[in-house]
Amino acid sequence: MKLVNKKSKEELQHALSKEKFARKTCSFYVYKTIKKRSDLRDEIFSTLKKLNILGRVYVSEEGINAQVSIPENNLKKFEKKIKKNIFFKNVNFNYAVEEGVSFFKLTVKVKQQIVAYGVKKNEYDMNKVGQHLEPEDFHKKIDGDKTIVVDVRNYYESEIGKFKNAFCPDVRRSNEILPAIKEKLKGKEDYKILMYCTGGIRCEKASSYLIKNNFKNVYQLKSGIINYAHYVKNNKKTSKFIGKNYVFDHRLGERVTKDVLSKCHQCEESSDEHANCANDLCHMLFIQCKNCQKKYENCCSKECL
Ligand SMILES: [Zn+2]
Ligand SMILES: [Zn+2]
Repeated sequence: MKLVNKKSKEELQHALSKEKFARKTCSFYVYKTIKKRSDLRDEIFSTLKKLNILGRVYVSEEGINAQVSIPENNLKKFEKKIKKNIFFKNVNFNYAVEEGVSFFKLTVKVKQQIVAYGVKKNEYDMNKVGQHLEPEDFHKKIDGDKTIVVDVRNYYESEIGKFKNAFCPDVRRSNEILPAIKEKLKGKEDYKILMYCTGGIRCEKASSYLIKNNFKNVYQLKSGIINYAHYVKNNKKTSKFIGKNYVFDHRLGERVTKDVLSKCHQCEESSDEHANCANDLCHMLFIQCKNCQKKYENCCSKECL
């Protein structure tokens, strides 16, 4: 068996539209030193392929990060097969809040790192990470004294949704995020730091970085905003996260509350719909309202149109 995809995007989209079953979107990660990355990569690819699973999986020296779309009738088999592998023994499966077409194909790649904050290896220690908080505890602690809520995601993500009162680094590159957070928290080493990200993977490294920088009380939201959104929904709580949770697949976001925090980048109308510019040479990620989508034919500017 050749372990890659050979079909075109159109063929893949067509095949997906013909499917007669529902799919579930799921993310999971593991931080663990992996030596034989190519072997593990091939093993994961063939396991997922056999179960007709689509998605994107990164295998690196520091661990594995996976987002997948699973046929509903293969869910149990999928969980069982994955957990059978020693690397995933204690893995947490994080299912989407809002379904929709998330992936068209399956890619499993060997990468340098699973979370690219650009911090050097001596700037964090993955054996010392922030204390995990269940959504309920995070929800309670958030309004406490000497507490700071920190968003460890990119600006384009927090722009459309965040925890109320969270500090969101206003930087454009992911390697600027952690230094910006450290700068903001200077002198507050004894505060309770409550951090969060999409599904939890980035908090592991970000919390480890803060601990290495002498922060004493570092907490992280277990399994991220996705898990918190389930908690709010299942327990009928008023969400302290407002707006949309940006996700890294075709859906580009899961709505958590009705609040729209951002504006269309072209006309400044209220909008939180992300789009990639239809000009393949540009492909810029930006926010575009329905009117501008028509007017610019899914492009970011007159130049691209
Ligand atoms: Zn607009
Ligand atoms: Zn463009």
